[in-house]
Amino acid sequence: MRYGIISDIHANLPALERALEELDKLSVDFYLCLGDIVGYGAWPNECCRIVQQLKCLCVRGNHDEAAVTVGKERWFTSGARACIVWTREVLTAANSAFLRMLPPVREVVGVTICHGSVPDQDFYTTTPEDAMLSLRATKTALTFIGHTHYAEWYALRPGARLPAHVPLPQGGRVELQAGVKYLINPGSVGQPRDGNPLGSVAVYDSDKQVVQIHRFEYDIERTQQKMREVGLPAPMADRLSLGI
Ligand code: ZN
Repeated sequence: MRYGIISDIHANLPALERALEELDKLSVDFYLCLGDIVGYGAWPNECCRIVQQLKCLCVRGNHDEAAVTVGKERWFTSGARACIVWTREVLTAANSAFLRMLPPVREVVGVTICHGSVPDQDFYTTTPEDAMLSLRATKTALTFIGHTHYAEWYALRPGARLPAHVPLPQGGRVELQAGVKYLINPGSVGQPRDGNPLGSVAVYDSDKQVVQIHRFEYDIERTQQKMREVGLPAPMADRLSLGI
């Protein structure tokens, strides 16, 4: 089976459409979504609808939760907060209900999926020490996380105190070895922050035991224009050109 891994779409419809085109070319059978379908971007309803239509298992992100939970946004930066308040106003009842029922962690087909970390969806995993929190908490050899919008991976060998850490801002391949525990971030579909403005997705091939991270182009200007049209904060649109 080949699984398309998508994370941090952030209501960026042009990026999501291109991500799914790429994954279709890569013959994906099933999708895993690591949360933050909404927030920042101007197409929350369209992105919720598309994710629901996919053959997809999904967990919630902090923005998904904040979009349907008044008060949760108080921990956000002012720009992110303005976006989530706007999102809450435009979300349909059906899409709000969909986001509300998403669980924080799922274990499927020998893989764990979550948003920020296994113990805490809001936690930013940025160091090998951070990665240990998830690697200790999982029973599966392979775990996918999102939330930082960085494409990268951690590998914990038997007996090692900390995992190796490999950033993959240009994409790349991870060959999974037996006995090693992996924590892999596919990067963000709709708001990359690893210095590369291209969107990011991963494919997990469970037969070959390989994870490949792919970067893809999309129409960034179309996304920025729509964000400005609906009145979302300009810095949230501008950052997409820079990948920060
Ligand atoms: Zn996010």
